[in-house]
Amino acid sequence: MARTTDRNSPRIIVAGAGIGGLATALSLFSAGLRDIRLLEGCAHLRPVGAGVNLQPAAVRELTELGLDAPIAAQAVATARLEFHHRYGGTIWSEPRGRDAGYHWPQFSVHRARLQSVLLQAVVRRLGPAALTTDWRMRGYEHTAGPHGPGVRVHAAGRPPLEADLLIAADGVNSTARAVMYPGEGPPLANGIGMWRGLSRGRPFLDGRTMLIIGCNANVKTVVYPITPADASGHCVLNWVVEAHDADTAAADHWDSAADPAGALRHLRDWRNEHVDLHAMIARAPRVTRYPMIDRDPLPTWIDGRAVLLGDAAHPMYPTGSNGASQAIVDARVLAHQLAHHPVDEALARYDALRRPATAALLAAHRGLEPDPLLRQVEALAPNGFTDIAEVLPADKLADIRSCTRRVTGVDAAGLNARPSWDVPRRSAPVCASPALPLP
Ligand SMILES: Cc1cc2nc3c(=O)[nH]c(=O)nc-3n(C[C@H](O)[C@H](O)[C@H](O)COP(=O)(O)OP(=O)(O)OC[C@H]3O[C@@H](n4cnc5c(N)ncnc54)[C@H](O)[C@@H]3O)c2cc1C
Repeated sequence: MARTTDRNSPRIIVAGAGIGGLATALSLFSAGLRDIRLLEGCAHLRPVGAGVNLQPAAVRELTELGLDAPIAAQAVATARLEFHHRYGGTIWSEPRGRDAGYHWPQFSVHRARLQSVLLQAVVRRLGPAALTTDWRMRGYEHTAGPHGPGVRVHAAGRPPLEADLLIAADGVNSTARAVMYPGEGPPLANGIGMWRGLSRGRPFLDGRTMLIIGCNANVKTVVYPITPADASGHCVLNWVVEAHDADTAAADHWDSAADPAGALRHLRDWRNEHVDLHAMIARAPRVTRYPMIDRDPLPTWIDGRAVLLGDAAHPMYPTGSNGASQAIVDARVLAHQLAHHPVDEALARYDALRRPATAALLAAHRGLEPDPLLRQVEALAPNGFTDIAEVLPADKLADIRSCTRRVTGVDAAGLNARPSWDVPRRSAPVCASPALPLP
């Protein structure tokens, strides 16, 4: 990438090339900012992880970045969310995405596929030199030069880099956050472990439904497809078994291998008419386990010319399918502010817009464990039911569900009507480069 010498364009370092960092680089570029360096700690971006969901608010941003088609080609446009009893029977069913009135779909997709689409767009638009891998930030310090305040970013085994702004998108164990808040310590675990896997299987229901099944002793299972059916009629099913478990503290990264028996023992007598849970879990080529963790909200995400974004700023439980979505919205809001305001004012506006919104979401996610709807049905019908109306009348079910909806946001009219974060295009040079292979 040609680095500009235009001092009106701040020199920006984005640390971390996860979903948030890649979306930030693309959003900054789309907003007309050109001096962008994306620095990733890993030497190679590997296809780690499993399914993530993109809520319509995030899909809107990706659409405005021109990335809806390549993502749609890799994803399932989720149309329904259903809650089932662990002994079968539908407790609640509701539309999602376009079917719920949004102008944009909700996507279920493999995190690595999403990351690959974003990475290819970064390489194509910003040029291959914009991304440096094997560059692990160790910390930063404030600087004051002839052009104003700045930041010096340190990395292991590399010379320090100077910039006008550091955007730290370095995830839940953020180095920049630890510099800003040295006393904070590790993420907070709630004692729930998540066994996760990907299993090939037949699509169930309409092939676009997310199932949430539960719950006894706070065990919950989530299953949804992340690919359309292939020629053989099979798709990839993403599943998660969440349970309080004494062992969960041991697994502290997304790729920790686990014994499927640990998940299966929680589901011994469960049955579901649409998915054979036991066979599905047994079929998974690999099972991982990750603790359900988050961090408390912060009083500010800004420290001079360093600012937090994505999980570095607001890690929250994955229960509400919001981690990737909120990072993408952060990226777009920050880029919009930087395109319209001097750096310090832009940071303040970003912090004021995004920090309270994500703090409310974080608190709402904590209220979902265990899920209030499943918990109430379990208390009233521990052995199952033949007709949910005999357990809870429809209006009571709707009341409970509306309390939990704020986690994934259902204000379709508000999102549809909100002005875009897009910045009117200036001339945007596009660097030609071959597509990267999928990670
Ligand atoms: C490997 C991995 C797998 C995941 N799998 C899932 C999943 O299956 N389902 C799910 O819901 N969520 C998953 N997540 C979390 C999810 O991606 C995030 O919650 C969400 O996308 C927010 O993204 P983020 O960019 O803020 O953080 P992340 O996606 O965590 O990205 C942070 C990036 O910063 C890099 N980094 C970390 N420290 C440094 C440093 N000091 N210097 C430079 N770079 C650094 C990391 O290598 C990573 O690429 C996963 C995260 C990771 C890192």
